[in-house]
Amino acid sequence: MIQTNDLYPGFKKYQSEYEEKALSVLRSGWYIMGEELSKFEKGYAEYIGVKNCIGVASGLDALTIALHLLGVSEGDEVIVPANTYIASVLAITHNGATPIFVEPDEYYSIDASLVERTITKNTKAIMVVHLFGMPCDMDAIVDICDRYKLNLIEDCAQSHGALYKGKMTGTFGEAGCFSFYPTKNIGAFGDGGCIATDNDELADKMCTYRNYGSEKKYNNQMIGVNSRLDEIQAGLLRVKLKHIKELTEERKTLAQRYLEGIENDRICLPKVRDNTVPTWHQFVVRTKKRDELVECLRDNGISVMIHYPIPPHLSEAYEYLGYKKGDFPITEQYADEMVSLPFYNGLTEEDQRTVIVAINSF
Ligand SMILES: *Cc1c(COP(=O)(O)O)cnc(C)c1O
Repeated sequence: MIQTNDLYPGFKKYQSEYEEKALSVLRSGWYIMGEELSKFEKGYAEYIGVKNCIGVASGLDALTIALHLLGVSEGDEVIVPANTYIASVLAITHNGATPIFVEPDEYYSIDASLVERTITKNTKAIMVVHLFGMPCDMDAIVDICDRYKLNLIEDCAQSHGALYKGKMTGTFGEAGCFSFYPTKNIGAFGDGGCIATDNDELADKMCTYRNYGSEKKYNNQMIGVNSRLDEIQAGLLRVKLKHIKELTEERKTLAQRYLEGIENDRICLPKVRDNTVPTWHQFVVRTKKRDELVECLRDNGISVMIHYPIPPHLSEAYEYLGYKKGDFPITEQYADEMVSLPFYNGLTEEDQRTVIVAINSF
């Protein structure tokens, strides 16, 4: 069976480096808030091109903390794409705010032309999501945020290293929020996340907030949380960061192979926005005959996944918002038509050929 995702080949490739790093942290006697974390934060900030990176426990925490420290709270509205992973929305509602959904464009990210009409006096922020590693229309979004004085938060959980007009995603607004969940483009060996920001004052607050709200031990300036990136994960992420160019290049090669190989009128391939360099978190195609395609691929020994079958506005969790089927038709259509093909670092050309042949014969 060809898996949709397989983390083992990625580990195998730099196995000795990962093992050495894990052992050295174990033997150091220091496991939280140490040198590995500060070195990773510095290295990641350099990579992204921001002044500060603050390690936290997950991508969801990164988003939740960023919104909280930007003052988003009860009664506020945050604009967010309707087709995203539910974590983007959870971060908003955990802060007591209301998500205001906007339909996606043909690149699967927020349709910037539809944003302005959703702004009200309660709008506090816009959260964009560079879904599948494809950068959003940032010029248009930044312009709206400037004109309406709104905070801009970027959910970069799937876009580590993606470029919009030569600039990294995560550097356009107040905060860029990254996840290091194992399957992400820069994945840890457990949970992890970080917030990128050029705002030094905000960065200081984030550092204090993630550690019980105390900058100095037992000296609590604010009501904080426990959300830290531990030494082992930070150390392992440093190993991954060292190889990030190569890992990202490999994903581009894999994407190119699918883009060139797949030829079938029933299959809609992903489009790349002008002036962007996507990082291909997933390779997502669409078809009106999704069930048949999934079955056809399964019969050929290929497993696929759906990202994501139920949009947040139709999930049970958000029933209280009162949405019904048909409220966001484009989002719902995408949710019904999308299929994520096998895609991961270490996927072989032979397996990709098998997928291409199966799809072309569908
Ligand atoms: C994975 C993901 C998150 C959440 O990250 P975690 O580290 O799993 O908490 C948020 N937003 C998007 C778009 C994601 O893909």
